[in-house]
Amino acid sequence: MSVMRSDLGTMKILHLKKRGCFLLKLLCLVVLMLIFCEFLVYYVVIFQCHWPEVKIEALRSSRQSSASVLKAMFLSDTHLLGEIKGHWLDKLRREWQMERAFQTALSLLEPDIVFILGDVFDEGKWSSSQAWADDVRRFQKMFRHPVRTELMVVVGNHDIGFHYEMTTYKLKRFAKVFNFTSGKLITRKGVNFVMVNSVALEGDGCTVCSRAEAKLMKLSHKLNCSQQQEQNHSNKRCSGVEQLPASEPILLQHYPLYRRSDAECTGEDSALPEEKNTPFKEKYDVLSREASQKLLWWFHPRLILSGHTHSACEVLHNGKIPEISVPSFSWRNRNNPSFIMGSITPTDFSLYKCFLPLESRVTTIYCIAGALLGLLILAHLQLFNPPFYFAQHLIRKHKAV
Ligand SMILES: [Zn+2]
Repeated sequence: MSVMRSDLGTMKILHLKKRGCFLLKLLCLVVLMLIFCEFLVYYVVIFQCHWPEVKIEALRSSRQSSASVLKAMFLSDTHLLGEIKGHWLDKLRREWQMERAFQTALSLLEPDIVFILGDVFDEGKWSSSQAWADDVRRFQKMFRHPVRTELMVVVGNHDIGFHYEMTTYKLKRFAKVFNFTSGKLITRKGVNFVMVNSVALEGDGCTVCSRAEAKLMKLSHKLNCSQQQEQNHSNKRCSGVEQLPASEPILLQHYPLYRRSDAECTGEDSALPEEKNTPFKEKYDVLSREASQKLLWWFHPRLILSGHTHSACEVLHNGKIPEISVPSFSWRNRNNPSFIMGSITPTDFSLYKCFLPLESRVTTIYCIAGALLGLLILAHLQLFNPPFYFAQHLIRKHKAV
């Protein structure tokens, strides 16, 4: 009797051990799947991106031959969700994805400087001061960066509101965090960038608009004088003006310059075919024709990068000035977000688009892994016996009778 009892006890322990072992294996599989889809996948995909080559001849012939190439990263429309329209799960998911993508890009690509082309927040246009503080805290955590990498942010309509809802208060609180209001000129490794407050280019003479225009004209004067001084043209109006590298600037702004629609845009991440022919509204989807002309006259840029449309496009202004629409960096707006990598010298530049993992692909991996786990559990519970074993089981039963 006692022997039978101890046999039963051993069998029970063995059964429990087997079950424990199986559960442990399942747990390992789930953890591995999570590590791959939420962490490693960013490394696998972004590892394939590389800094484009710039023409060395151009670099050698320039006066800045000793200057190294500036590695700049451009992304746009992160739209961190706010407390009113953002669901907590949506927020958590999107922000995790962007944080992982950004942090992986920083560690693998080591850019010198990163520019975000506006609409950092989704609800900056109406958020309370408390909600704003919370959004800013999350932004600073997601987009944390080492000292060797600079982060510059251009203002967008979702950060301070469209022109009709933009106030000095909203612009000031944005400026407090990002040190950007009307416009800014920054020079790195001999390359000039002009950051534009495109929301303030309404042209109606409002206080913020007048300030922005005045600031841009001042910057344009500074740049023009630097170019004239480089060519040894003396100009009285330039006396006392700080000398900058004579390189033509790169414009960075949220709204694109005026274009009729996205009909001419090509590429896998351009607008959807049904949206491409929708005409753009001036001062809403794109800058007005007048403001666009002014920017081209003032700065004679060699390149323009803008955001706002969430889709990709390449436009040529006046037959020679390229503008790149940088698509949204958030999976909430696209299945295939991306950022632009630019190798830039004072005389030349070369751009490359780095795509992030496709959200649909990550979802497919989860679905396949989920189905496999389901099958394993079914097999373990012996509800999934193949017909052969089932028949054998029946015969054995029959013989016993
Ligand atoms: Zn926008």
